[in-house]
Amino acid sequence: MARIHRLSPRLANQIAAGEVVERPASVVKEVLENAVDAGATRIEVDVEEGGVKLIRIRDNGQGMEPDDLPLALARHATSKIHSLEDLERVGSLGFRGEALASIGSVSRLTLTSNHRDDSSEGCSALCEGRDMEVAVKPAPHPRGTTVEVRDLFFNTPARRKFLRTEKTEFNHLEEVVKRLALSRFDVGFSLRHNGRGIHSLRPADSTAERQRRVASVCGPAFMEQAVYVEHERGGLRLWGWVGLPTFSRSQADLQYFFVNGRVIRDKLVAHAVKQAYRDVLYHGRHPAFVLYLELDPALVDVNVHPTKHEVRFRDGREVHNFIFSSLHKALADVRPGQGGSDPVSALGAGETVDLQTGEIRAQSALAWGGPAPAPALSEGRAMPVGGYQGYSSAPASPVRAAEQMRAYGQLHPANAPLPEAEAEDVPPLGYALAQLKGIYILAENASGLVLVDMHAAHERITYERLKLARDAEGIRSQPLLVPQAVAVSSREVALALENSELFARLGMQVDGAGEESLLIRQIPVALRDSNVEQLLRDVLSDLAEYGSSDRIEAHMDEILSTMACHGSVRANRRLTLPEMNALLRDMEETERAGQCNHGRPTWTQLGLDELDRLFLRGR
Ligand code: ADP
Ligand code: MG
Repeated sequence: MARIHRLSPRLANQIAAGEVVERPASVVKEVLENAVDAGATRIEVDVEEGGVKLIRIRDNGQGMEPDDLPLALARHATSKIHSLEDLERVGSLGFRGEALASIGSVSRLTLTSNHRDDSSEGCSALCEGRDMEVAVKPAPHPRGTTVEVRDLFFNTPARRKFLRTEKTEFNHLEEVVKRLALSRFDVGFSLRHNGRGIHSLRPADSTAERQRRVASVCGPAFMEQAVYVEHERGGLRLWGWVGLPTFSRSQADLQYFFVNGRVIRDKLVAHAVKQAYRDVLYHGRHPAFVLYLELDPALVDVNVHPTKHEVRFRDGREVHNFIFSSLHKALADVRPGQGGSDPVSALGAGETVDLQTGEIRAQSALAWGGPAPAPALSEGRAMPVGGYQGYSSAPASPVRAAEQMRAYGQLHPANAPLPEAEAEDVPPLGYALAQLKGIYILAENASGLVLVDMHAAHERITYERLKLARDAEGIRSQPLLVPQAVAVSSREVALALENSELFARLGMQVDGAGEESLLIRQIPVALRDSNVEQLLRDVLSDLAEYGSSDRIEAHMDEILSTMACHGSVRANRRLTLPEMNALLRDMEETERAGQCNHGRPTWTQLGLDELDRLFLRGR
């Protein structure tokens, strides 16, 4: 074996570059982050040939003193932290002090900077990947810094081979600029490729300007179909925009999550978000969101990975819960009439307006004319109750549609269109005009025509009622005649015991039965035909990975959802106007009523302006 020797500085840097500099986009990320850390309010990015030939980034930040230029290019040199304590609550994006050294070792890098407001004379340093020796000479430059990176990987042909087409590299690079633009609204960004302007984003101070920036980065369609969320609890703050479930995507390509201003990709976060969308997203679709989590920097470790795309939370379970519950609530509140200028959206959280009297009530009082299994319900109102009773005591029996529809008629006999003068009081989904092909309800509201998919809407209403009923009554469970043994690892035994309360809450009793074995003694009645062993295994693996699991609820919900689907009005059923109006009113009061149980939209609006356009009116 050869003797040990020290790596040359260049080789050491090139090895480090292997982690940090994967492609032109990684260079842009590092250099942009430095500009932001330097307090720049205006950053210009110019690239050629997807960034492989040239990346030039100019900022108006605090600049560097001439003596600092060689240090900036040296490895393990930073101005951002001094001690381990600093690292534990780091506020800057950078702190490792190796980005510029790494980039300089695999490209031709020129650093030009000026730290003075009163002079346009700065200094420039060149580093050509050879010996890492840096010569500093005077160069004109306004206050701020310009970093120019030419011929990336010119001296590391192996790396060069991994580069993709110019277009692909540019797409990656543009994505990096977008992320930074979303993370810092107070900074102006511009991006040019081969001399062509691609983005030009002015600093955004007001809410309207921020929304405009999100729209220009994520596309206007996202902004039109997103709701703003803002939630704070126990030192955690989450805000941003989440796409409506009907604005889902086939890929997870419109998902931005920032933790204290740093964009991250995190399994725990992804799981919490996915779980929040569980009930409303079409199978296999991905939600779109731009979200910002803010918390005490001491509670999150950013020094997990060289590119800092990952973080570690001190209390992962708490963060998971917080994200999940904030988003879950926001999505449940999405119902007809949300958004725009109607009265419902003007209400505070947890409030709802009584559509008959205009009275504002707290959410809990809303219900369905009382808690779901109210004893006073008459025969005709069997729709929610029938399904509910079927679920909790006897095997589920689909509720007959005819009965339900009769129920609608009796529930809301007084719904008739209002005279013109009271147009302002028209409920969000308006009043029914007619039924089309036994499938759609046509209704008129303040802004025009409303189209409702009758079955899809009724399915969601029934489903939400079944869930409410279950929540009101608690989950019924039954002991297994023969407890089921499940062979697991010792770690999983420990997890199951630690979480026995969670299982109990969901109607399951799981006991330890040896070092590597569990016994399922009791299960929810609703799951009696399910593969509970598989379910238990999946729950344990969730618990191991994310500290929480919603699989049991998800599975029970699925069963309710199927019941709701069978119990809902089918197509080709004639409804009377009062029945249709009753359905519309129920939709307005039902959580998540904008989507059916499978995530398809339940209704849509054709505004007068759109109708006018169809008929070329008013031109
Ligand atoms: P880090 O960002 O982790 O400190 P870098 O290698 O990216 O390490 O940068 C090294 C140092 O160079 C920074 O700590 C900073 O002091 C200085 N620097 C880099 N870019 C700029 C810039 N655009 N403006 C001012 N100072 C900069
Ligand atoms: Mg840096």
